[in-house]
Amino acid sequence: MNFTDLGLAEPILRAVREQGYENPTPIQAQAIPAVLKGGDLMAGAQTGTGKTAGFTLPLLHRLAAHKPLRDSRGRVSIRALILTPTRELAAQVEESVRIYGKYLPLSSMVMFGGVGMQPQIDRLRKGVDILVATPGRLLDHHQQGTLDLSNVQVFVLDEADRMLDMGFIHDIKKVLALVPVKKQSLLFSATFNDDIKALADRLLNQPALIEVARRNAAAETIAQRVVMTGRERKKALLAQLIREGDWHQVLVFTRMKHGANRLAEYLCQEGIEAMAIHGNKSQGARTKALNEFKSGALPVLVATDIAARGIDIDQLPHVVNFELPNVPEDYVHRIGRTGRAGAQGEALSLVCRDEEIFLRDIEKLIKREIPRDSVPGFEPPADEKAEPIVLGRMTIGVGGIRRGSGSSSRNGSNGSNGRPASRDGRGPRSASAPGSRNSRSGPR
Ligand code: AMP
Repeated sequence: MNFTDLGLAEPILRAVREQGYENPTPIQAQAIPAVLKGGDLMAGAQTGTGKTAGFTLPLLHRLAAHKPLRDSRGRVSIRALILTPTRELAAQVEESVRIYGKYLPLSSMVMFGGVGMQPQIDRLRKGVDILVATPGRLLDHHQQGTLDLSNVQVFVLDEADRMLDMGFIHDIKKVLALVPVKKQSLLFSATFNDDIKALADRLLNQPALIEVARRNAAAETIAQRVVMTGRERKKALLAQLIREGDWHQVLVFTRMKHGANRLAEYLCQEGIEAMAIHGNKSQGARTKALNEFKSGALPVLVATDIAARGIDIDQLPHVVNFELPNVPEDYVHRIGRTGRAGAQGEALSLVCRDEEIFLRDIEKLIKREIPRDSVPGFEPPADEKAEPIVLGRMTIGVGGIRRGSGSSSRNGSNGSNGRPASRDGRGPRSASAPGSRNSRSGPR
């Protein structure tokens, strides 16, 4: 199938051509006609499938087909609202809106926390057709009376599963109360559990259903490898792999914020330029690190799961799990940063004995064994015994036993996925006070 067969307006096709896309990806081939028809949509698609263009292109087409709506003061009203779980994803989606909409007379804006309100208020005053936002800051604007969503015609919930994982369900419900009941709603999610289905029931009206990637299936184009090593050998092993492999663009994952900082510092001491991004860094620092990494100026970016959510870099050649995630679905999300839209990529996991429990859970989820090897000089020490892993308030035990105040299963006692939930990737919220804005602290 060709993009020209989908019924999109010429200015959009021109922008798509300029991106060098020849054919729509499977999600685009299905989602674009469905959204153009005007109905609701529930789509199962992971990052890397081309889902952003899947909703952005038909959304632009539909908005461009009508004149802008204006409020009583003659200002352009928001007609499309796209909600995303993280700031990084919001920025990337809005960038896509601008790229694909560059030949259309439509305006867009991105809105997230961690930066000043005033520039956003000023931008809103000028009038916006398409708003891409994270839920927390959006509600802050509503409370201040600086945001009017009463003319929204299209509502997109991107990465809905991650939104729920991060504890945004109450915020989503609040946002839904601010937009008109009659609208077109699109829900995108990589996974579907009962919570997502309940949200879909509430939000969607006779939706078209599309699922492209197998649930929790890791992309076939990604070569996955496990290197077994010692707990204290990981840093030196990573430095050696980067040097010997002459890696120029590698995204490295750690479980915790301080681990990300320590690893970036170590690599810098070793003469390998690296920066860390996580929820404790200022928005400016995160954007700077991300931009330098994207442009190729920074070879190593160390990130926690939430900070890296939605990082969209074409053909990222190397993703390294410096530490395996305790939530197996995070593994799939992490390695989805490489081998995207058909490109080849390698996902390498450095695993010590403590993490074998995580590895087993991951292999169960992806329904395959990941080949294991070791690097001479960095083998796991014969006398190293597995030790429990402490993650904030929870301890994950040795030999397959999980214990502590939390659980690492998706239905853990803290209400979502065994880790404290957070807002906009800034840090977890207290499980006992899910709506509290004053409980942002914690390990990630
Ligand atoms: P997404 O799943 O939306 O995060 O997109 C993943 C990547 O695929 C992005 O880097 C897009 O630029 C790229 N992409 C999207 N659509 C296409 C297409 N039709 N052909 C080739 N690459 C695409």
